Amino acid sequence: VPVVAVVGRPNVGKSTLVNRLIGRRQAVVEDTPGVTRDRVPYDAQWTGRQFTVVDTGGWEPDAKDRAAAIAAQAEIAISTADVVIFVVDTTVGATDVDEAAVRMLRRSAKPVLLVANKVDNAALEIEATSLWSLGLGEPFPVSALHGRGAGDLLDKILELLPEPPLINENPGPRGPRRVALVGRPNVGKSSLLNRLAREDRAVVDSVAGTTVDPVDSLVEIGGEVWQLVDTAGLRKRVGRASGTEYYASLRTAGAVEAAEVAVVLLDASETISEQDQRILSMVTEAGRAMVIAFNKWDLVDGERRYYLDKEIDRELRRIPWAIRLNLSARTGRAVDKLAPALRKALASWETRIPTGQLNQWLTALVQATPHPVRGGRAPRVLFATQASTCPPKFILFTTGPLDAGYQRFVERKLREEFGFEGSPIEVSVKARK
Ligand code: GDP
Repeated sequence: VPVVAVVGRPNVGKSTLVNRLIGRRQAVVEDTPGVTRDRVPYDAQWTGRQFTVVDTGGWEPDAKDRAAAIAAQAEIAISTADVVIFVVDTTVGATDVDEAAVRMLRRSAKPVLLVANKVDNAALEIEATSLWSLGLGEPFPVSALHGRGAGDLLDKILELLPEPPLINENPGPRGPRRVALVGRPNVGKSSLLNRLAREDRAVVDSVAGTTVDPVDSLVEIGGEVWQLVDTAGLRKRVGRASGTEYYASLRTAGAVEAAEVAVVLLDASETISEQDQRILSMVTEAGRAMVIAFNKWDLVDGERRYYLDKEIDRELRRIPWAIRLNLSARTGRAVDKLAPALRKALASWETRIPTGQLNQWLTALVQATPHPVRGGRAPRVLFATQASTCPPKFILFTTGPLDAGYQRFVERKLREEFGFEGSPIEVSVKARK
């Protein structure tokens, strides 16, 4: 969790400011000149981001060796901080102690926000501007006591904090990328596997430093070794021995779950069936990247093409993001397109949008197209964060629940802006209470 250190002379209002930042009344005691408080960490949260605020207590302006005392107190706090908030009392102005502190802050090379506190009214804002003279950039006028400017300050703090770590939902170990080759019986899974193995003449037995499940196949495709999950049955051609459809679908689910990306084979010469749909849903719900391969393309003539296009419009409407390939395991057509498609889908699946970039885009979007007014009010979208990769999941922080339609609109625009071709994404809403 990133750390924000609050430093400044006694009585400039650090404790009050810390109370503002952590958003609750806690027993943060005011500074007593001459009494040095321990550095106390508090958990804070703003628009979904967690951080720790460290209250550094008072400096010792009356100590004999004033400069050393400042250094001792603040330097520890500053060295562990990601952002330093330097608080000055606007009603007093910059003192020589403040100036000594500034020299030390500069040496630390940490990002510093200069907070001009006790700006309780507009008249004092003019006083605040005089703090430019400290050379720490623009002073941030706030009234910790009344809350004036606190929201803007928090926004600014978040901008300066390092990116939060993302949850990576990618299961399993590192090593070759894991691919599930799935599809209903007779779509050509074995044929494709055989074709891939033949084309590259490389069914690999092992990859150094990794253990591979014996039911998996390692195949070099497009100059890279891929782990095809649970292909033992396909490899050995043990007839149609996999038994009931129920059993087969369990096996498919297991393979999809273990994989990072799924190649769903459809038979281009036949109507997209309910069983095909179940497999497509399985991959989407598992949150895996997806490439849809229309196999047996050698059998597709002009008429079939016409109907297939209509079927695609109808049946694949919910997953327009899936990468589609038209190939033929029999002739080898477009089989070389598989590896690039897999790579692209995986790259989308792993995409991380920097928080700043995400919110720059979001702010423009909700400004241009705000949420429609319902019953005299419209919830506002405040902020977004990406909560995970593999697949990318986003949280919108709002002032109230969003219409399902508006949420879909944001999701569609998010795709338009950032792509995510070949990967499912998830957008959820957290309404501020
Ligand atoms: P699986 O059950 O999904 O493993 O399907 P198979 O690989 O066993 O293929 C089922 C049938 O489709 C076999 O008769 C294959 O020869 C045939 N087949 C597979 N791929 C193609 C293709 O690209 N074109 C044509 N015309 N037939 C194919």
